[in-house]
Amino acid sequence: MVCGGCGAVNHATYDSKVRRVRDLPCGDMRVYLEVEIRRVKCTKCGKVRQEKLDWLSDNPGFTKRFVFFYRSEVPGVVDKVRGYRDEAGLEDR
Ligand SMILES: [Zn+2]
Repeated sequence: MVCGGCGAVNHATYDSKVRRVRDLPCGDMRVYLEVEIRRVKCTKCGKVRQEKLDWLSDNPGFTKRFVFFYRSEVPGVVDKVRGYRDEAGLEDR
């Protein structure tokens, strides 16, 4: 798995926990995913970090596609989402 801090690939799991992540709705139903998210004690940076998952946004509790489609409609996460957009090179010019 990939260290969420430095991106190094590690093979040992430090621990894991189940987290609830909101995904795109299905019709008018809210959709939540229950996901086991692992942490890694990174051999490169020496820190305990959450594994990097491509589909999980930097906002705790949301998938990337949820943030992408609903960024203007989720109160309180707009600033964080802007950070995500900068990182992804999507900032408005
Ligand atoms: Zn690392």
